[in-house]
Amino acid sequence: MAKNEDFITVLGARVHNLKNIDVQIPRENLVVITGLSGSGKSSLAFDTIYAEGQRRYIETFSAYARQFLGGLERPDVDKIDGLSPVIAIEQKTTSKSPRSTVGTITEIYDFLRLLFARAADAYSYNTGEKMVSYSDEQIKTLIEEDYLEKKLTILAPVVRSRKGHYRELFEQIAKQGFLKVRVDGELLDITKGMKVDRYKNHDIEIVIDRLQLSKGNEYQNRLQEAIKTSMYHGNDVMMLIEQETQEVRYFSRALMCPKTGISYPLPEPNNFSFNSPKGMCPHCNGLGHLYEVNVDKIVPDKKLSIKQGALAPQGPQKNNWIFKQLELIAERFQFKLSDPFEKIPEEAVEMILFGGKEKFDIESKTLGITRSYKIDFEGIATFIQNTFNNNESTSLKRWAKEFMNHISCPECDGSRLKKDSLFFKINNKNIAELAAMDIDELQKWFLSLPKQLSVKQFQIAEEILKEVNTRIQFLSDVGLNYLSLGRSSKSLSGGEAQRIRLATQIGSQLVGVLYILDEPSIGLHQRDNERLIKALMQLRDLGNSVIVVEHDKDMIEHADHIIDIGPAAGKYGGEIISEGTPAEVKKHHTLTAQYLNNEKQIEVPKERRKGNGKSIKLTGATGNNLKNVTLEIPLGKMVGVTGVSEVKINTHQ
Ligand SMILES: [Zn+2]
Repeated sequence: MAKNEDFITVLGARVHNLKNIDVQIPRENLVVITGLSGSGKSSLAFDTIYAEGQRRYIETFSAYARQFLGGLERPDVDKIDGLSPVIAIEQKTTSKSPRSTVGTITEIYDFLRLLFARAADAYSYNTGEKMVSYSDEQIKTLIEEDYLEKKLTILAPVVRSRKGHYRELFEQIAKQGFLKVRVDGELLDITKGMKVDRYKNHDIEIVIDRLQLSKGNEYQNRLQEAIKTSMYHGNDVMMLIEQETQEVRYFSRALMCPKTGISYPLPEPNNFSFNSPKGMCPHCNGLGHLYEVNVDKIVPDKKLSIKQGALAPQGPQKNNWIFKQLELIAERFQFKLSDPFEKIPEEAVEMILFGGKEKFDIESKTLGITRSYKIDFEGIATFIQNTFNNNESTSLKRWAKEFMNHISCPECDGSRLKKDSLFFKINNKNIAELAAMDIDELQKWFLSLPKQLSVKQFQIAEEILKEVNTRIQFLSDVGLNYLSLGRSSKSLSGGEAQRIRLATQIGSQLVGVLYILDEPSIGLHQRDNERLIKALMQLRDLGNSVIVVEHDKDMIEHADHIIDIGPAAGKYGGEIISEGTPAEVKKHHTLTAQYLNNEKQIEVPKERRKGNGKSIKLTGATGNNLKNVTLEIPLGKMVGVTGVSEVKINTHQ
């Protein structure tokens, strides 16, 4: 018998239906725990081994930390020996945040951001031309042309959106003879011991000079000096604020549009993050889509009058403030609330929907006097948009949503990023275009990339490319080559999410860990199943123990060791009925052995059901990657929908 440290030994496990079982699980092996549903597989793998691993992990925390976490209960087991740190890769643990994507969970997108910050070429969003670098002399000429007789502050950006208290930095700046800094947009005198909140992101610029440009040599020299000094301290970027308008403009020795003079700050990884204010599209806050009021939903039937309820959010006329305002608008534009909506003058419709303010007088014929009225109306559509944007109440939001459309953001075209971030390109592609490619396409693109790069670019990119390529390969290895990095993790199936975590784990190259997986083959096509098994073996070969709870025959046959739990479900299960290598397990007369030996199979029925003659017809389905599919599904039958994973079987819109 092998040494004890080669095994995880479980003695007297009684969790749920387990019948006081003892089991030895060989370490650094691929071990499959199988058996009928409900036989006790998960009770052993998750509720005993994983639970104990978690409990021991939390025990290692300080007493202080533990009082917040709460202790975990010890599972009902006499003893577990030889346990390494445990990582469970379950199906349910994905982030449902709309800000999480395949790219962010696998960290591939983080490497892309780094790559774009370091090696991308910038193009002007005004002209599409490649941004060029100017000499200080050229920058000076530009400033003289644009800001003659204006008061200017010249600054050197030294900290951009980074955390820290910056006490030493302020000290240093003062030592160099500067008196003022601009911190997060505010001009401040440097004081002794000055510091800022270390846990917040800060922008800090040194005020280099304040001057008013006028013709003549004196200011010319001073401007020249200021440019030089700010470029020196600002790492080749200078900032200029025009005092009157407070307009901020960057000048960079690196990146300026030759035609229009716009310049981008030197890129940093956050400029390409849709989760950072530096990179996100301001219109949709980096979500890529938004809700927009749909006027047709507010007025679904233009033949109705407002009185009858043409304005769906308001319903028929009531005695309230809104209808009083509507009456005023009707007075002003000379129509009646009982007129069909389609007869109302356009100007009035505009005011009803989008609001307006107006004072007007009406002469009363009967009384012979003139009365003044005031319209101050928010507009129904504006009200709905505001309710949706600003209201905390979910039920009001839901109400507002009924009159809105869910649309792709028109500003960023769903790419989630702000305009200038999309004008940084590598080999003609911006980062959003890469995130939209599927993993196969992306892999091809990256493999051919080195040839397209300049020597300098390649030197910068080489290490990053290695990281990207290996991670892409891992995703491909677990059969996820059809996904794109931009795919929201919300829309992933449990199996896909699990395989992404698996790919990330392989990528992390940890050694000596016990991984426990819950039916990773679920939902996989046969072809992808082989890749999955390979990935698990890779994880094992790195020096890890892998336990898989699984029914899949291929997986069982590839295991180094099988633990078969049964014989039946619930209280009739919970025992180990056979264990050993696949060959050993096949010799027993268990249900599992019968399936492995092909003695038992799921019988194909001799007669197929006829169905009830009815059907569901789908026309023009385009959810996710569906290519305008039209099909008819017969009812009253069992219908199989098949295809290689992610041909897209389960898109439900
Ligand atoms: Zn947007």
